Amino acid sequence: MFDSKSNLAENFISHDEIIKVLDFGKDHMNDTEMVKKILKKAESLSGLDRYEVSVLLHACENKDNQALREGIFAMARKIKERIYGKRIVMFAPLYVSNYCINGCKYCGYHTGSGICRKKLTQQEVAEECRAIEAMGHKRIALEAGEDPKNCDIDYIIECMKTAYSTKNGNGEIRRINVNIAAADEDIYRKLKEAGIGTYILFQETYHKPTYEKLHPSGPKSDYEYHTTAHDRAMRGGIDDVGIGVLYGLYEYKYEVIGTMLHVKHLEDTFGVGPHTISIPRVKMAEDVDLSLFPNIVTDEQFKTIIAVIRLAVPYTGMIISTREEQNFRDEIISLGISQTSGGSCTGVGGYAKRIKCGECDSGSDDQSTAQFKVSDVRSEAEVSKALLKNGYIPSFCTACYRAGRTGDRFMQLAKTGDISNCCLPNAMLTLAEYALDYGDDEFNRLTFDVIQKERENILDEKVRNKFDEYISLIKSGQRDFRF
Ligand code: SAM
Repeated sequence: MFDSKSNLAENFISHDEIIKVLDFGKDHMNDTEMVKKILKKAESLSGLDRYEVSVLLHACENKDNQALREGIFAMARKIKERIYGKRIVMFAPLYVSNYCINGCKYCGYHTGSGICRKKLTQQEVAEECRAIEAMGHKRIALEAGEDPKNCDIDYIIECMKTAYSTKNGNGEIRRINVNIAAADEDIYRKLKEAGIGTYILFQETYHKPTYEKLHPSGPKSDYEYHTTAHDRAMRGGIDDVGIGVLYGLYEYKYEVIGTMLHVKHLEDTFGVGPHTISIPRVKMAEDVDLSLFPNIVTDEQFKTIIAVIRLAVPYTGMIISTREEQNFRDEIISLGISQTSGGSCTGVGGYAKRIKCGECDSGSDDQSTAQFKVSDVRSEAEVSKALLKNGYIPSFCTACYRAGRTGDRFMQLAKTGDISNCCLPNAMLTLAEYALDYGDDEFNRLTFDVIQKERENILDEKVRNKFDEYISLIKSGQRDFRF
């Protein structure tokens, strides 16, 4: 199973294969019958192969056939609705250190950039966590630059321990996803022991020459080591891994097909694909000139990427961040996004600083230590309220991870459709907690209206009755119920 030769990056991210798949898509982009057939297959929730994905990506570029594109988007919305319903999982990033020894051309952390270098003390990590908890978040993505001297694995583990043990009233961090540089198996084993949720690592670009050009120095310049990191993470015992491309570094269709090959490799090797796919776009950053990036993805192309990935891997979570601007975020969520951040700060120590500056939890950011500029600067409460008003259920659920439903056990739950009796009630229980602990009157009204309406969609009567009982207990001040 773990034949080291077959796990070489070039064996699963083959440039020649990607080009062959892209040529196939180009040749069939006007084949309306083929597109219809592919959409029919997507509707069965069985996912799509890379050739089908390529045809859809190309078909969406066909300006003469807008109906085709609209049909693809409509199917993405339908699938998103069928699998995720109205739920959207909320999280906040926590940047603990911006020390970095890499030379990544697009990142504000690169060596020699003018940012203030900072690493949080454990007391500061606790302050950040209290500030994040005061916004109502239960799930964080812990982020750090790569610097084995200033920010080694023991420091990251300390930060995780601090985060899990820091409470603020009813607030607590219940799941920590970690986004740190590619590492060896022993480090992943330590992260597993410390209670990691998902290990997230972005490929940035699957196109090797571009990767090598944009990562000229530091450990991250090793394409092979970076691309095989998720394999080591899974061998190190981490069940849930997250992948992603930084869109804008290379041609987007190439990247989507690269993503499909990566998904297939993880599925073939470990029996389960990535838990999440993040869809970040490159943003302005300190000492980074965006005009040097000729592959910046337009909003329309970005919508295509999200819709097509949703059809291809219907059960895989898809994440967007506050890199995306407010109105556009609401639009793309409907095409397939299942997780989003809110009230984010990409600076080190920025949450606590914001409170000290009297800026409440709004997403404006101190840029002196930030990795890149956020576009959606609303507070978490504003983001969640806007979602509620648009008919969504902001979810603060972390139940699967805490009940051990990770890796293939999670996929089993998703695929058997038991989501209506598990994920839906859990999302509403955590939303009720959030409303009562952090919401204003309008938020509470919107929350309990939505709960009243959506409880009908809990199909199992026993679960529905239990759900009603839990909601009463939450109203009486008790917390942390889950299915
Ligand atoms: N040090 C870790 C690594 O090497 O993967 C974590 C990196 S960083 C904390 C998280 C992600 O931010 C990176 O993987 C990159 O995709 C993204 N990022 C870096 N610069 C960016 C920019 N200018 N705009 C948007 N995202 C950026």
